[in-house]
Amino acid sequence: MAKEIIIAEHAGFCFGVKRAVDIALMQQLTKESKAYTLGPLIHNNDMIQRLKEKEVFPIHISELDQLNPSDSIVIRSHGVTPDMIKQIKQTGARLADATCPYVSSIQKKARKYMDLGYQIIIVGDRNHPEVIGINGWCDNTAIITKDGSDLPKLPPKVCVVSQTTQRLANYEKVVDLVTKQCEDVQTFNTICKATSDRQNSANEVSKKVDFMIVIGGKNSSNSKKLFEICSLNCPKTIFIENKDELLADLLKDSTIEKIGITAGASTPDFIIEDVIAKVREIITL
Ligand code: SF4
Repeated sequence: MAKEIIIAEHAGFCFGVKRAVDIALMQQLTKESKAYTLGPLIHNNDMIQRLKEKEVFPIHISELDQLNPSDSIVIRSHGVTPDMIKQIKQTGARLADATCPYVSSIQKKARKYMDLGYQIIIVGDRNHPEVIGINGWCDNTAIITKDGSDLPKLPPKVCVVSQTTQRLANYEKVVDLVTKQCEDVQTFNTICKATSDRQNSANEVSKKVDFMIVIGGKNSSNSKKLFEICSLNCPKTIFIENKDELLADLLKDSTIEKIGITAGASTPDFIIEDVIAKVREIITL
């Protein structure tokens, strides 16, 4: 019986990451100018390599003094603090802001409500670049909490926002705790649907198949999460970075009838297409 391939409806690049990669690739280069991204643009080694081949290189904030005014520097989808923007502008290099519009909207809310006298609370991971960036927009005065368990005594006016990739349960827990303590509470569920869409699709597909392939960078936390979800539904789930890691023997098992494929939000289309092509080739041999 011919094996069937089922591809998750929501897989691969989210809107914000695709936009950031497009912006990086659009930088006009001349012999004298170079394009940089402030940190690796996405958690995917193959994509970073492809960007390097197109003369777009990651640079650390501490290396900004190496920039020439003819160079351009791309801000990642996570966004940065106003202070970092100032530092980049001081170099004279051209700034290409690829902050995801969903993230920019959180930054603006944090600034607006801080100016209106609210204490900003960010539900998220304090070391994540997106959270560091948002905190910068409210002058680094935000209270950052993962699930509310470490909240200090709060003032009467509080505004709650969330890191875009946070779990809804954590956000709801914080809102619940804050609402009980404070008089004036403004809440904004700023969790991005791209994450839950990918997780729901992966969950659905992995329930229907005998073998599941998750494609993503080894250091991509959203891809690892997809692997965890799929493994619970389908014990034969593998996590690969690209087609080279897909071993043909695994798919030749005669008990496998349906093969599912999904990919994290930082996995580019060309890698997904390569894997699909290799799977087709193996199962038709
Ligand atoms: S996950 Fe959502 S918020 Fe983050 S870059 Fe993608 S689209 Fe933007």
